[in-house]
Amino acid sequence: MKYCDILRKIKLLKKNCFSFSLGKSLLGEDICCFHLGSFKGKQILVEGGIHAREYISTLFLLKEIDFLSNKNLDGGMYIVPMMNPDGVRLVLDGANFIKDENLKKFLIMVNGKEDFSLWKANANAVDLNVNYDVFWGQGSQNLKKLSSANFIGYYPNSEIENINFINFAKKIKFNGSLSFHSKGEVIYYGFKMNGERLKKEKFIVNQLTKLNGYTAVKTKKSTGGLSDYLSYFYHVPAFTIELGSDFCVHPINEIFLSQIFDKNKEVLTTFLNLV
Ligand SMILES: [Zn+2]
Repeated sequence: MKYCDILRKIKLLKKNCFSFSLGKSLLGEDICCFHLGSFKGKQILVEGGIHAREYISTLFLLKEIDFLSNKNLDGGMYIVPMMNPDGVRLVLDGANFIKDENLKKFLIMVNGKEDFSLWKANANAVDLNVNYDVFWGQGSQNLKKLSSANFIGYYPNSEIENINFINFAKKIKFNGSLSFHSKGEVIYYGFKMNGERLKKEKFIVNQLTKLNGYTAVKTKKSTGGLSDYLSYFYHVPAFTIELGSDFCVHPINEIFLSQIFDKNKEVLTTFLNLV
């Protein structure tokens, strides 16, 4: 699979589904958002592809958009299938598409090789999912130096992809959020949470794990994530779902997509009904 194959899928879906751009990535790619269902009633905010090598989450969400596009929803869903288009392109196409020779050399230097298949970051070598301004830099795996993964950036909310998303989240009303990653078949919940809110999250996560058979795990050691940010500042149920078995290797091959889809295709609608 190449990056253009993902763009082709997005283009096809745009014919039947309402979509718009949240803004551009560092290298000028649109961060596309689809909206399904009605703008009235409850809304959920769903995203994937923030970690480049986990682009199976993008493929899952594109398949899900197609699956839900002609269904009646009780409310609506904003779905951003590919938060980190530059990173996904690096994983799928390598660095040769980059016209700026200095940037290309910089990325190959940070990566340590020309094979980008395990790259997680954006085209600034910042891991977008540890860059949000929510207990920034306090995660157990955080790195404070440039890397293909886990570098928190020089300051919180520094990356254009995250800034675009934050500005968008401010403009809409939403009742809950799902962030799709890979891998491990786990749903993380309860970021910095206790009391009634934690009870509600536990109830929802138990319903979701009944659908997909994944394991519910309370978030403890991660900080600076998109899901953490939305949970902490918007006080909505927000879960991180790790698609695919741990037996798969990164990046998860698309041959596993139908299996992942079958387990998770009802998760979004169930979540919308529960929030
Ligand atoms: Zn991830």
